[in-house]
Amino acid sequence: MSVYDWDMNLAAKNVPFSLDEMLEKIEVRDVSEDIGKGIFAKRFLKKEEIIWVLAGPVVYKPSINTVPIYWDGEDDWLFIDPLEPVSNMNHSCSPNAGIHGRTMVVAMRDIEKGEHITIDYAMIVPRYNFEQLPQTEEDLLCTCGTEECRGSFGAYKNLSEELKKKYRPYVSEYILELEEKGKL
Ligand SMILES: [Zn+2]
Repeated sequence: MSVYDWDMNLAAKNVPFSLDEMLEKIEVRDVSEDIGKGIFAKRFLKKEEIIWVLAGPVVYKPSINTVPIYWDGEDDWLFIDPLEPVSNMNHSCSPNAGIHGRTMVVAMRDIEKGEHITIDYAMIVPRYNFEQLPQTEEDLLCTCGTEECRGSFGAYKNLSEELKKKYRPYVSEYILELEEKGKL
């Protein structure tokens, strides 16, 4: 079974989900010169609602937009290279959405029409591996501008215990599995 099948099965079980339905919920607009484009709510989204699924090719090496979906704690990683429009997903240190499974983006709270939808990249990244990544540490500086801003995107490993607890229902399941095995 591929990583897609399980999320798509789960999504299909809980919510009938199609690309058309996704496009009723979100649209891509400019955020700012610094950030570029982002994903915005086209209508009110209820807490825990699945907003989109990170669909795209599964790849072994990271690039700018890839989302990690598997890591063995050593050298083996898998990533999804998300397609438009969900490739425009942005980070915030005070996010309004999180992850269920490995690829479903869900509302962490009620989201009003017109709000910029963000996750915290620490929900999907256990740690940054600069040997593999095309980015440098400088590229990971955060300009989210929220009161909670940590200054850089960061990784799950480096979150405070308080944030780990708050984010727990919205952290990619492979990260929680690694943590349980003491491999983070
Ligand atoms: Zn920030």
